[in-house]
Amino acid sequence: METTDKIWMDGELVNWQDAKIHVISHALHYGSSVFEGIRCYKTEKGTAIFRLKEHVERLFLSAETLAMKVPFSKEQIEQAIIETVKTNKLETGYIRPLIFYGYGKMGLDPVGAPVNVTIAVWPWGSYLGDEAVKLKTAETIRLHPKSFKPQAKVGGFYVNSIYAHQEAKKAGFNEALMLDHEGNIAEGPGENIFMMKDGKIITAKAGSILPGITRDTILTIAKDNNIEIEERTVTPEELKQADEVFMVGTAAEVTLVDQIDDTEIKNNHTEEKAKFFRTTYLDIVQGKQDKYKDWLTF
Ligand code: PMP
Repeated sequence: METTDKIWMDGELVNWQDAKIHVISHALHYGSSVFEGIRCYKTEKGTAIFRLKEHVERLFLSAETLAMKVPFSKEQIEQAIIETVKTNKLETGYIRPLIFYGYGKMGLDPVGAPVNVTIAVWPWGSYLGDEAVKLKTAETIRLHPKSFKPQAKVGGFYVNSIYAHQEAKKAGFNEALMLDHEGNIAEGPGENIFMMKDGKIITAKAGSILPGITRDTILTIAKDNNIEIEERTVTPEELKQADEVFMVGTAAEVTLVDQIDDTEIKNNHTEEKAKFFRTTYLDIVQGKQDKYKDWLTF
């Protein structure tokens, strides 16, 4: 992976290669960490971080699920993120804030272990590439909503995503499609999923999914363009019969899907709404649409 010069660690900028932790850190053993994935983009007015406030808000919500006492305020973390992007002169790239239970205590109860906060940034291209991707319906289902907190980005939960992704890769696909415990469409391991059918935009309702910030951005664009929205239960059969399918996420941005298992998704070229969402999203994050400039932190 590409690196940058400095990582923000508990209030200080340290050299990338010196940002180290002890092997007895709690999070390394039990997954007791929370994180965010944020992107910044080069715009005409300089680098802009996309929806910084919402990401930091979710980071703190995630931390709350693990009863973490974060030794910094949301405002301090926002400023630290801006500082880390600036210091590293990052124009377009990825921002990874991480809060974890560190070194000082073992056993399942992390409360009492120090809470450490780090922010790393690096240049990172499109997560799933620029081409349309092929999805495999994974045997690994999304965790039951009573077994985790779907709205939180907790390190340990992501083993569920890793399993699903590995299954898809092993079978020669680009990414996994994860079902919920009832066999309906949930999401990708790190992306929300949308379909277009008869001019409507349809996506899984909140419940078993992480209702992402990109998902919200796409729904806002849909609303602003008078495209009818349905957030509801979606069956795998229905998804395969969609006019268009696409995945969205901070890392994946808007990625078209052209195959699910053995079924080709035609991405009906009379519609091309997926491409419209992709183009509009990329325009917004690059500051080309004034209407959405409140989402950018320069
Ligand atoms: N679902 C999961 C499981 C994810 O990890 C992510 C990435 N955070 C998303 C959806 C998309 O969320 P966002 O648009 O907020 O990046």
